[in-house]
Parts: sequence; C-alpha cells; structure tokens
Amino acid sequence: MVNVALTSTLQFLSALRALKVVRCRFDLKHETFLFAGESGLGKSTLINSLFLTDLYPERVIPGAAEKIERTVQIEASTVEIEERGVKLRLTVVDTPGYGDAINSQDCFSTIIAYIDDQFERYLHDESGLNRRHIVDNRVHCCFYFISPLGHGLKPLDVQFMKAIHNKVNVVPVIAKADTLTLRERERLKRRILDEIDEHGIKIYHLPDAESDEDEDFKEQTRILKASIPFAVVGSNQQIEAKGKKVRGRLYPWGVVEVENPEHNDFLKLRTMLITHMQDLQEVTQDLHYENFRSDRLKRGGRLSSHGYVLPLSPAKGPEPEEMDKDMILQEKEAELRRMQ
Ligand code: GDP
Repeated sequence: MVNVALTSTLQFLSALRALKVVRCRFDLKHETFLFAGESGLGKSTLINSLFLTDLYPERVIPGAAEKIERTVQIEASTVEIEERGVKLRLTVVDTPGYGDAINSQDCFSTIIAYIDDQFERYLHDESGLNRRHIVDNRVHCCFYFISPLGHGLKPLDVQFMKAIHNKVNVVPVIAKADTLTLRERERLKRRILDEIDEHGIKIYHLPDAESDEDEDFKEQTRILKASIPFAVVGSNQQIEAKGKKVRGRLYPWGVVEVENPEHNDFLKLRTMLITHMQDLQEVTQDLHYENFRSDRLKRGGRLSSHGYVLPLSPAKGPEPEEMDKDMILQEKEAELRRMQ
C-alpha cells in the first residue's frame, strides 16, 4: 500500500480542484483501475506518472528464463489522496508479465478470476448485515496497453479484450507513443478502432455531455472521445526543458513532455479518469455487476427477501438462510426503534 502525501500530488490535485464536482461526488469513494497488457509496455511507468509515486521501488525485472516459467501475478497497490477531509482512494492493479507466460489462457484466467473475485466479495457484502460500510473493490476500468510496434491488434489483444469486455470497462491505450510519428499514430489509432469494431469488442464509450453542461465541458468531452485509443508517454524522470522542470523523456533531438497535450494523450487519459469516475462506477454497477449477478442467479444462486443474490459458497461467510434471518431481525429492530 502506498500512501501519497498531499505535497507530492500537487499536479493531480490541481486537476481535481479544477473539477469542483469531484469533492462531493467522490467523497470516500473507492476506485479500482486495472492496467493490463504485455510486460515492458510502460504500465508501471504510466501509473507512476499519473499518481506521482513509485509503485514498485523494489521491483525486480525478471530475466527471460524466469518469464517463461511464471504465469501472471496480480499486484495491487492503493494510492490514497486526501484533501480537507475528502478521501480519494484509487487502487491500481498492475499485471506484469501478461503475454510472457507460455499459456495465454493462464493469463486470462488469473485476471478474470481477480475481477470476478471482487464482484463475488461485493455480492457477499451486499447480502450481509453491514451493507452501509461496504468497501467497493470492484474493478471500474481496465486500461489495456497495445504495443506501438505492431500494425494493429495482435491476436492475443483481441482474445484478452473479448475475454473481459463483459466484466469491466475497457479503455484501449497505445503504449510508448513517442516511438511513433504523428502520422503513424493516427494510422494506428484508426486501425485499432476498425479492428475493435470488426471483432465485436465492446470498449468503454464516454457518454456525450448533457445539453445543459457548459461549452468547455462539451468540447472537452468531444476531444476525449475522439482521442481513444489514448496514445500515451510515461516517464519517471524530471527533465529541464525550456527553463522548466518537466516530467519527460530525453532524446538526442529533444524532450518528449509527458504533460504536453501536443506531444501525447497522457493529460487526456488523466482528465478522463477524473471526469468520468462517476460514469465508470455507474456502468460497472448497472451493466457489469448486474451481468455478474444475473449470471449467478442462472447458476443457481438465490435471491434474499431483499432482492440480493445470496452467494453460492457459504464457506466465505454465514449460511444464506442465516443471513436472511439476520437481515429480517435487523429490519424488525430498526422498525421497533422507529416506533419507540
Ligand atoms: P511494464 O512492464 O508494462 O510495467 O513496463 P515498465 O513501466 O516497467 O517500462 C518498461 C520500459 O519501458 C522501461 O525501460 C521504461 O523506461 C520504458 N518506458 C515506459 N514508458 C515509456 C514510454 O512512454 N516511451 C518509451 N519510449 N519508453 C517507455
């Protein structure tokens, strides 16, 4: 767990401050983002750039032999940002080594099991007594990293996105955009979108801005929508450019600035993350979690008297009948208190 001090997150917070709605909307909310894609595409670096923290200071990059041996591990890390009583909790889950293991199905099943496990826990908590204090660890969004070196999606990319698209909001990202010229970048974006369409992959669609929103917000939403898949650059280094210290990558011909919208889509991705948290949560609840719940019902789960699906495995908690009884008891007690 990584706690980020207020001082080290000034840039991120200033973006939050620019959005006054954030304060009331995300108070005590818990957001989980999954960063998936082949290892070496820059996922950890981007997370570090986004949250200005070194998520894996002691990370050891495995050698080739080790990569062949291992399957995917899920590493989770929580970033907590606090400002005047407002808590923003973002759990970032990185999946190093995806695509490294010999059996790609292993990679998929580990990640799918992780997503399902969070749904299962939520279902369990929702059916339990203390529903008010449920910690929502469900995965709200998966940023899927695509290699800039291919001419579009690899078969593994297609398989992976199809395996998760009914479980989580998928946002495709072109990694290491500094390795592409502007023309190549635009061509790759178009190609990826065409292939996503051809293969029937369902990615997260940003909702249009409401008609009563201000013009700036409408324009921002339009630009964000047109920029997917976001072509991003990440860096852990501060570099001197034009007399300022900026986060960037230094090349013999100049500096690629991470936070320069003319250089890449990093800022757009971050803006989307902030402005669309609420929507990502709603789609997760109304679409993905509902799919999971109804699937559970089909597989023999039972509805409690409150309309909640009771978990299949009683080993994780009290017996379903007991939970039902407890809930009825609790409601009766509450009613008695009201009458008193
Ligand atoms: P991960 O395995 O996907 O988490 O990848 P890492 O974040 O560990 O990055 C792997 C390598 O790619 C490191 O040497 C990074 O410095 C480099 N890298 C990360 N982001 C970028 C980028 O945007 N552009 C370029 N050219 N290299 C990057």
